[in-house]
Amino acid sequence: MSPQTTVPGPPAPTRFIARNHDGPNPEAEYGETDGECCFCGHVGPGQDPSEPINYDYFNDDDLMQAATGHVCACCAYCMQEARGIKIGHWLATADTYQRVSTGDLLETIQAIGEGEYDPPLALYIAKRANISQHSYLWTPIAHSTDPLTFAYARRTVTIGLAELFELVAAVECLRWHGFRLDDIRAGRPRVADLGSIGRELYQRADAVIAPHRETATLEAALTLSRAKDDQPAAPDPFDLQ
Ligand SMILES: [Zn+2]
Repeated sequence: MSPQTTVPGPPAPTRFIARNHDGPNPEAEYGETDGECCFCGHVGPGQDPSEPINYDYFNDDDLMQAATGHVCACCAYCMQEARGIKIGHWLATADTYQRVSTGDLLETIQAIGEGEYDPPLALYIAKRANISQHSYLWTPIAHSTDPLTFAYARRTVTIGLAELFELVAAVECLRWHGFRLDDIRAGRPRVADLGSIGRELYQRADAVIAPHRETATLEAALTLSRAKDDQPAAPDPFDLQ
């Protein structure tokens, strides 16, 4: 690797995950030397990157923020000891780390809004819940819950919770009336679906969705939204302002 300027990386939630995950104590296991982490910028115990960076399962060198020659114990833990944490959606705070199923994502964000999880916290929403990714290295740490900042796949989303819930309500309203996700993305309703929802309600739902078209925010809302069969009741049109 060529020498480069050492700059602190963005804070990564690996400390939250490593300390709340069922595994060995990160610093006892991986805290051989002191240094500045080339992934998260944390200064403290860790090890030489050649230890955790094993090309059999870690080849995302572009995630390295600086050539410090040091990986902190918590980043090393996440890279080496906990392959399961690389799959699917998850939430981490200073005192919790939990995997979240797609069906529980919306409720989890509602719980965040109700103050069940104290910030700082990190929320990762996967594009496909069964794909393994090193999301713990790029998911941002949110210092407030409203607006909430989270990662959707490799992108960062920041949005007020009321706006997010209204967007999800608009998507769910369309899904209730048979809209497919691609039709919602494109803003091109099928005739039968338009007939089902009625033009006036469609226009209100689309007015909520349109500003987010082609953004990670809309993709996250599509992931959070429930299909018709999973919605508890017919959508309330008054959820859409
Ligand atoms: Zn680190």
